[in-house]
Amino acid sequence: SLAAADIAHSVHPYTNMRLHEEQGPMIITRGDGVHVYDDQGKEYIEGLSGLWSVAVGFSDTRLKDAAMRQMEALPYYHSFAHKAHEPSIRLAEKLAEMTPEGLNRIFFTNSGSEANDTVVKMVWFMNNALGRPEKKKFLARNKGYHGITVASGSLTGLPANHGDFDLPAIPVRHLTCPHHWRWGHEGESEAEFTARLLKEAEDVILEEGPETIAAFIGEPVMGAGGVMVPPEGYWPGIAALCRKYDILLVSDEVINGFGRLGTPFGCQKYGFVPDIMVMSKQLTSSYMPLAAIALNDRVYDAIADNSAKLGTFGHGFTGSGHPVACAVGLENLRIIEEDDLMGNAARLEERFQSGLRRFADHPLVGEVRGVGLIAGLELVADKATRQSFQPAGKIAATVAKMAAEEGLICRNVYETVALCPPLIVTEAQVDQIIDRLGRALDRGW
Ligand code: PLP
Repeated sequence: SLAAADIAHSVHPYTNMRLHEEQGPMIITRGDGVHVYDDQGKEYIEGLSGLWSVAVGFSDTRLKDAAMRQMEALPYYHSFAHKAHEPSIRLAEKLAEMTPEGLNRIFFTNSGSEANDTVVKMVWFMNNALGRPEKKKFLARNKGYHGITVASGSLTGLPANHGDFDLPAIPVRHLTCPHHWRWGHEGESEAEFTARLLKEAEDVILEEGPETIAAFIGEPVMGAGGVMVPPEGYWPGIAALCRKYDILLVSDEVINGFGRLGTPFGCQKYGFVPDIMVMSKQLTSSYMPLAAIALNDRVYDAIADNSAKLGTFGHGFTGSGHPVACAVGLENLRIIEEDDLMGNAARLEERFQSGLRRFADHPLVGEVRGVGLIAGLELVADKATRQSFQPAGKIAATVAKMAAEEGLICRNVYETVALCPPLIVTEAQVDQIIDRLGRALDRGW
């Protein structure tokens, strides 16, 4: 059977492999709108949009047609050494237009991890070119997620991605996770928490020496670490510190980008303008693998000057700006605009977020948090002390499993049950998501 073949031959990402050998896979065979279906014909609402990414749902024929047309016209070409093709040119132009003022230059990779690896290398390349080779360190945050390659996995601030992988392997300091409910001290207000985190960041910069700190990277709202919404004033404060000490600010918008928070990009929600922005996932609704890095002129010019001096910018992937992926990306962004899917996220925010906050009183739930169409419910063993269950993550995994039985796919990330439905979701489907999750929580309890 397919399941037996999977057990015999597949090595699954992010999976307990021995457990998988015992329990086997959930095989998904098709999709329709916000729904996916398994090989038994069972229907699920995909409450996490696959991996936080399928904005337009699972059956958009315009994306299929765009891919077909590009496959027929030019299935592959590259952009190395002055070569170019229309899809990547047009998508770069479109992203320069959509991203905030000043971000005008676009570099493509195949994945978010590769994009963040590329950011690290671009920043190092830039600072070598500017004659400041000691300015190489990154600031990131505990619970941040930036991918799993050697450099991007170093920026990620999660134990499962470090431990036995011998990461971090690049110079990075991880700062406190900006999540007041979990990391605020007893009696500390949100404003005091923000002030403490900004002081911590400045202390680290001064301790390391500003001349050694190249960049700060963060997700406006953290996703894969457990959906953490930053406290008021945090991002403007971080942006001010970056300006003060000449540190590049990198906004990792791989989950936040393209309307997830109800604004085009997360940095706009929180009032800061990055020097570098990283995008992926909803860029193509993950119908094709693609990520993009947007650079401001200062970063671009330093890199471009150095490429002229050295004779090349010695970095790029065979698939950088793949024509089929870019054609799908362009069509996907057209759909997001024409169908006003960002507006849909903004309109449904209240229904989704307040509906989920109904569970704040549930005995299993410590905090319900989120913004736009992304949310997390952190489960606790003790509501008063906020103590987590032991073993860690087990109850969240159980609730996610029960939610699947109820016809809702969500994701358990550590102690948190995360939701991030497709941007095409309707009011009625939002209500179904909440009802199904409620039944799973009651069963988990
Ligand atoms: N950055 C963020 C914010 C992400 O959420 C992810 C993936 O979830 C990545 C980077 C890595 O992207 P990929 O899995 O495409 O390598």
